[in-house]
Amino acid sequence: MVKAKARAVDGPDKGFREAEITRRDLDQQDVLIEIKFAGICHSDIHTAHGEWGEVNYPLVPGHEIAGIVTEVGPNVTKFKVGDRVGVGCMVDSCGECENCQKGDEQYCNKGNVPTYAGFDKYGEPTQGGYSTHIVVTEGFVVSIPDNIELDAAAPLLCAGITTFSPLNRWQAGPGKKVAVVGMGGLGHMAVKIAHAMGAEVTVLSQTLNKQEDGMKFGAKDYYATKDPETFEKLAGTFDLIINTVSAKIDAGAYIGLLALDGTMVNVGAPPEPLSVHVMSLIGRRRSFAGSMIGGIQETQDMLDFCAEHNIAPNIEVISADEIDHAYDRVLNSDVKYRFVIDTSTM
Ligand code: NAP
Ligand code: ZN
Repeated sequence: MVKAKARAVDGPDKGFREAEITRRDLDQQDVLIEIKFAGICHSDIHTAHGEWGEVNYPLVPGHEIAGIVTEVGPNVTKFKVGDRVGVGCMVDSCGECENCQKGDEQYCNKGNVPTYAGFDKYGEPTQGGYSTHIVVTEGFVVSIPDNIELDAAAPLLCAGITTFSPLNRWQAGPGKKVAVVGMGGLGHMAVKIAHAMGAEVTVLSQTLNKQEDGMKFGAKDYYATKDPETFEKLAGTFDLIINTVSAKIDAGAYIGLLALDGTMVNVGAPPEPLSVHVMSLIGRRRSFAGSMIGGIQETQDMLDFCAEHNIAPNIEVISADEIDHAYDRVLNSDVKYRFVIDTSTM
């Protein structure tokens, strides 16, 4: 067993505290990773605050993990000690169902094993990346390309893949008009990736405060959703809308911005239902879809794509003592554009 330093939370309205957790002894195909950086995703906040349902506390969140391999099990073939690696939102799946076989491990018919707030195949609760070490079976570990710094790589493991996957599936590319709703952690990655794929990108943010950044990330246009004229002006415009908003929004109003055959994909995961008047779908053969992270090979493809296109998130590196403050700032949409914990401060 490896002892790891960590930051844990004991209840929905509690702050983070120092903790020590144990990681299992290496199984045949396990790798031990010394975590260097862990991103803070809004999903960590939804989970830590118990918004998505009951959670087993104490909880160590964190599913944007970047680090170095320090030990490998006897049957590991993909990695060796010293490799730069990442782990995202899941650490295992059945491997046998049709979805796993297709590389859609996130949609495993038996349920994937989430990196935290789940149970592994040994029946132990999983604990995430706000810690110094983690043990993961090699099939759920990806390689970080040399030209991506480890701190910047961390957010790609969730924010990167969660936006890359639907942009890819719904074919964001030349000739396509893509809108990104909400420019936080996921949203700013969606802008960069969609732009690199060749799409024409528009940001729909609450205000124009971050407009300059949005244009630097590759947006062609930027509108404030607090301005009702935005919805009149852009009606029927977009082929694809990626909604990254963490709160309940008027989904129908955004669907009205889709062109014929357009699709709005929700990656934002507010706890409350969003309501849609079906007439807004029927009238222009529109679709309203959802998408969850991405498969393991797809995650590697996303990292390679980012390396090739020199795409990295804009991050603010913080110490482990600053997690509560960072959560407050994310909740106030005051994040530019991802907080990343330096685990050496644990
Ligand atoms: P984030 O950094 O907090 O970004 C969310 C952005 O949404 C904010 O920056 C803000 O952008 C906008 N926003 C927030 N509250 C709003 C409100 N009340 N009305 C309108 N806009 C609002 O969060 P994130 O880490 O990117 O995560 C976003 C969501 O995706 C969360 O719900 C998270 O759980 C979910 N998620 C889903 C998956 C998946 O697999 N589907 C994976 C990861 C995360 P502006 O300031 O630009 O308006
Ligand atoms: Zn996440």
